[in-house]
Amino acid sequence: MRRRADLKTGTTCNSNCVFCVIGDHLFTGDRTTAECVAELRASRATCEDVVFTGAEVSIRPDFFHLVRAAKRLGYDRIQIQTNGRMFAYREFCERTVAAGANEFAPSIHGHVAKLHDGLTRAPGSFVQIVAAIEHMVALGVRVVSNTVITKQNARHLPALAKRLVELGVAQYQLAFPHPTGHAATYFRGVVPRMTDIAAHVHAALDVGRVAGVSRMAEALPFCMMAGHEREVAELHIPPTEIVYDGYVVPDYAADRVARGKVRFEQCAACRFEPICEGPWREYPAGHGDAEFVPVPGARVIDPQVVLDDRFGMLGAPAPTPVPGAGWRAVCFVPQAGSPACTAELCSTAVPGLDARGIAIVIVSPDDAATQRAWAERHGSAATLVADVDLARARAWGALSPGGLRRTSYLVDPEGRVAHVVVDVDTAHHGAQIVHAFLRLHAAARPLGPAPDLVTLRRRPAAVASPGAA
Ligand code: SF4
Repeated sequence: MRRRADLKTGTTCNSNCVFCVIGDHLFTGDRTTAECVAELRASRATCEDVVFTGAEVSIRPDFFHLVRAAKRLGYDRIQIQTNGRMFAYREFCERTVAAGANEFAPSIHGHVAKLHDGLTRAPGSFVQIVAAIEHMVALGVRVVSNTVITKQNARHLPALAKRLVELGVAQYQLAFPHPTGHAATYFRGVVPRMTDIAAHVHAALDVGRVAGVSRMAEALPFCMMAGHEREVAELHIPPTEIVYDGYVVPDYAADRVARGKVRFEQCAACRFEPICEGPWREYPAGHGDAEFVPVPGARVIDPQVVLDDRFGMLGAPAPTPVPGAGWRAVCFVPQAGSPACTAELCSTAVPGLDARGIAIVIVSPDDAATQRAWAERHGSAATLVADVDLARARAWGALSPGGLRRTSYLVDPEGRVAHVVVDVDTAHHGAQIVHAFLRLHAAARPLGPAPDLVTLRRRPAAVASPGAA
């Protein structure tokens, strides 16, 4: 999967957002041009994409130089995270695109000037960011906006979503504030209770759903996102390494879970416990943890299942009777005898399945004689089900316009669907089923925090100025 580097170029900004996560150390130094280029070069070894962040990267004198350097180094997607103010100038946008940037990520926090400017504490910034989005959309650049959810803007989020859709953004994200920096200082005034704003967030997400625009909500756990589970942003964030002042967090997702976020004792009873990150660690100090009520239902062990259209099958009775008893893995395969299906069949001859009493049921569109000959040829004792008219595949959601979807379903002794293996690894499918079974039965993860997952790439410099190469 593609990886991206998130390069934090410094702490200087031309706004003063009331929720700024680095508000407590703004203007404490910027990386030099040489340091930034060195970081770009180093991260290119592991990343195809790059995100430039600041504080505000666009006010650096060397901004175009850095974007060009990223382009020269062969980064594919070059995103600029910004307050958008410099991009109010069409020529500035054109130069940014000419330098190689191809994704624009502006932060917009209100649907009208009074709200946005009040939160950024930068008069005129709303007019500027709207102009910036218009310019970038007109230039054909992919625009992916971010909005920090606050007490002030929460009820206006649907109106903002409507405005963003009208402006032509490709995607919008609503992010719950991380209570550090200014957001910690002004916690009572800015950071809402999640349960107070969840309905507004859902309504804002619905605007994009109706319009067919990609949208998501960040740092809101699944228990706040009922009916919107697929829009949990953490399911969509690509593998990312964070690069700042000589330090590298090589796996941002792991770091969020280990250090950034928190879960609670009651989470052990939640169906999403195996994949949920929980809220930011600082949140319960202000608002407590009583809001986080475990979601009942079948355990969800793989984010891919949430994103799949068969997510609703979890915990429901098997759509058609399954032969046998106890735990069963119902494996839909497209064609008996094909190399991939044979690999999958043979991979189920692993002792781990027998040891846990998991029976294999192979379903394919072939007739019974063909299936039997195939299984005998490979010494398989799997139960075979001929689905010549594809009625079972249709009932299980294992049929697409392109034909049968290679999929397996773990069915529990009560006959309920416990898990859907969305991405079948045909060479190791038996082990994959055992792994899923073990995860379904695993104890809740330990409550953190865990040690830092940060590495030192170079010794951090003393306070420096941008462009001082
Ligand atoms: S694991 Fe905890 S924080 Fe996450 S959805 Fe469940 S109750 Fe909420």
